Parts: sequence; structure tokens; C-alpha cells
Amino acid sequence: MRIAIIGSGMAGLACASRLSEAGLSPTVFDKGRGLGGRMATRRAEGGFQFDHGAQVIPCEDTGFRGLLENAKAAGHIAEWDTGDGNAKAVGAPGMTALAKYLAQGLDLHQQSEISSVTRSDGAWDLTSEHSLGTFDRVICTAPAPQTRKLVGHALSDPLDNVAYAPSLTLMVVLNRPLDSPDAQAYPTGDLAWIAHDSAKPGRPSRHCWVAQASADWSTAHLELSKDDIATRMLDLFLTHHGLDATDVAYATAHRWRYALVTDPLGQPFATSSDGTLHAGGDWCLGPHIEHAWRSGTAIAEDILSAA
Ligand SMILES: Cc1cc2nc3c(=O)[nH]c(=O)nc-3n(C[C@H](O)[C@H](O)[C@H](O)COP(=O)(O)OP(=O)(O)OC[C@H]3O[C@@H](n4cnc5c(N)ncnc54)[C@H](O)[C@@H]3O)c2cc1C
Repeated sequence: MRIAIIGSGMAGLACASRLSEAGLSPTVFDKGRGLGGRMATRRAEGGFQFDHGAQVIPCEDTGFRGLLENAKAAGHIAEWDTGDGNAKAVGAPGMTALAKYLAQGLDLHQQSEISSVTRSDGAWDLTSEHSLGTFDRVICTAPAPQTRKLVGHALSDPLDNVAYAPSLTLMVVLNRPLDSPDAQAYPTGDLAWIAHDSAKPGRPSRHCWVAQASADWSTAHLELSKDDIATRMLDLFLTHHGLDATDVAYATAHRWRYALVTDPLGQPFATSSDGTLHAGGDWCLGPHIEHAWRSGTAIAEDILSAA
């Protein structure tokens, strides 16, 4: 069976890895350069490194816990002690490590943006800049608005009610240590999360910090240029810590338009009426990496049970 998976984030890789365990050989396409989607790690000149997407890996499901334990035994997951008595699982040496662990042995095609998925002669044709061939099954794990554009015409379930909050994210390097908790969530205010990224296990020893704006602030400033976002968020960050511009060695920003799912679909995946096309991702079940894993795994099980 020829299987194409769109997206090498957690949902796509979980699906591909389960199918491959069962002896199938899916082909994974992703438009990005690196694996992991929103489980992202950015490296910058000077040995700086930031997890600018997902920060930590919460876990409730026993199946997902099994994956984390295996990845931990293989050195790709570590516990981050943030001093609040509640160690948090993180990828090591970066959040993409879990994606790299899952991706071992898979047929991956990065920098392949799928532009169309069409049905002809009982198969699915995938196109990027050129034709990528025909497939018996297609699984799309792009964020819901992108999935709707690409394969919405074929899905029985409408995705119209799925919603996300955006997240504007600042990456900043300080010239000196900062006397502040390594990780702090702020339920109110313009900044929702501030973390000392270099304090996570396995990171280069630098003064790299990540700050995420609240959903309200992110929504209000979403269309600013990245330079303007960086300037404004740096102001918030410096004011918060009582610092000034001379303390800053480097700062940049990232815009996540679809960051955290606020209104999920409420079921593990969507399908076409004939079951040959699936769509899934965190947007099916909730805002976390684990939800993406559960969706991708459920799609794989559905395909295997029908085979
Ligand atoms: C700022 C931020 C902070 C977060 N914090 C946490 C946290 O601390 N803990 C947590 O558990 N979760 C967190 N999350 C959420 C978590 O990152 C996601 O739930 C999870 O990574 C989603 O995985 P996914 O596979 O569903 O989607 P994605 O990771 O978005 O993967 C989808 C992939 O599809 C690819 N794609 C899209 N369109 C195409 C196309 N046309 N062709 C080819 N490829 C395509 C994309 O490049 C992407 O790689 C955070 C997210 C953000 C943005």
C-alpha cells in the first residue's frame, strides 16, 4: 500500500512510526527544513539555541508515557528541574529530539510543500513543485486551516469550528545571568511564559531566554513585522526584569499563527467517506504534543484495522 503523510510534526511522525512498525513504508513530506513542526529548536550564530515552539512535554496517556520512557532511555528526553518540585520532560539537546527519535528509519522528504491532493483513477495524486506520484492512502497533519485548504474538499467532517490561539515568541540572549526562576507561567499580563532555555538539560551554557506573549497580546500584534514584534516584546521582557538594552546580546521573534488549539474537533481524526484520506493533528483533541501523538497513532490504527 502506498501511503503519503503530509507533515513531520508529532502527529505525522507518530502515524508514520506506527505504520512502519506494522511493516508498511509510508513516505513523509514536510514543507519545513527541520523535523518536528511546532516542537521546534532554533540555533543562531554564537552557539545560541532556543526552543521557540513547545516548551515542555506534559503526559497523561500511558501509551505516550511509554514513548517518552523509551526516548528517555535512548537519551532524547531529559527531566528539567525548574525548582518548583515538578520536573518537566523536555527534548534533549532540543525539543526536536523527540521528533528525530521517532523519525529513525522513516522515508522523509523535507522542504516538500504539498500544493494539491487530487483524486484520479482510484488513487491520490500529490503535487508540490512537480508531481510526487500517486498514493493509495493520504494522511494530512497540517494545522486545521491548512488541512482544510488542502484536503477539505474530500473530508466528511467539516473543520470549521476548530480554533487556535496565536503565540508571538521572543528569543533573547542576555550578557549576564538573571536572578529569576528558570520557568514561570503568568496567567495574567502581556507575557504568558518566560523560560531560561539554557537551563534545560543538554543545552549549551549561555544566557538564552524565551518569552511568549499572552493570547490577547499575540492576537492584537499578530500582523506586525517580526522586527516590530521583537522590539515590542523585548521592551516587555526588559521592563519585567528591570533590565535595559545594554544587557541584551541578541534578540529575535517568531510568529506562530496557529500555536495552541483552543477548540478541538473532539474526535481523533477526520476522514473521507471512503476512508482513503485521513486528517489529524493536535487540533483533533487538544493543545499539546500528546494530543498530536494520540491523533497520529489513532489514524495509523484505523488504517491498519482496515487493511
Ligand atoms: C509557542 C508554542 C508553545 C507550545 N507549548 C507547548 C508545550 O509546552 N507543551 C505541549 O505539549 N505543546 C505545546 N505546544 C503545542 C505543540 O507544539 C503542538 O500541539 C504539537 O507540536 C502539534 O503537532 P502536530 O503534528 O499536530 O502539528 P505541527 O507540529 O504543526 O506539524 C504540522 C507539520 O505540517 C507541515 N505542513 C503544513 N502544511 C504543509 C504542506 N502543505 N506540505 C507539507 N508540509 C506541511 C508543517 O511544516 C509542520 O511541520 C506549543 C506550541 C507553540 C506554537
